[in-house]
Amino acid sequence: MAKVLVSACLLGCKVRYDGNSLAVGSEDFERFIAANEIVPFCPEVAAGLPTPRAAAEIQGGSGADVLCGAAKVIGKDGTDMSAAFIKGAELALALCQQQGIGKAVMAEASPSCGSGLIYSGQFDGTKVAGQGVVCALLAKHGIKVVSQHHADEV
Ligand code: SF4
Repeated sequence: MAKVLVSACLLGCKVRYDGNSLAVGSEDFERFIAANEIVPFCPEVAAGLPTPRAAAEIQGGSGADVLCGAAKVIGKDGTDMSAAFIKGAELALALCQQQGIGKAVMAEASPSCGSGLIYSGQFDGTKVAGQGVVCALLAKHGIKVVSQHHADEV
């Protein structure tokens, strides 16, 4: 049984910016949950952000750009939330390293957890290719990250 980090919102935890969870509702995902040792984690809550909180998107690049200071995570209210998102990513990495976790299944399109898509930064519902801040940091350290739609690949 492999130990896998999983976005807490995918597991029924009401930790999303709007106070809800994110139901996956697929048999593949249920099989993945049953077959692995699941470690739930929400980097944004771990970093101390409240729930509910302002919706946030990455502006000026992707998660890797946020990590190096070339882009920012901006709340819909205009607040720069970059520091908290970077802290959440660092806490996710620390947890993986402490527990020997080499794989993660994370919520697609989140500015933290997105592994292949993120929102454009314009708050217009458009998604673009890119990783969120957490996925960028985990991938940089050799941790395989996929979305909930590809959980069977970990
Ligand atoms: S997508 Fe990630 S940061 Fe957002 S609520 Fe889910 S676990 Fe937390």
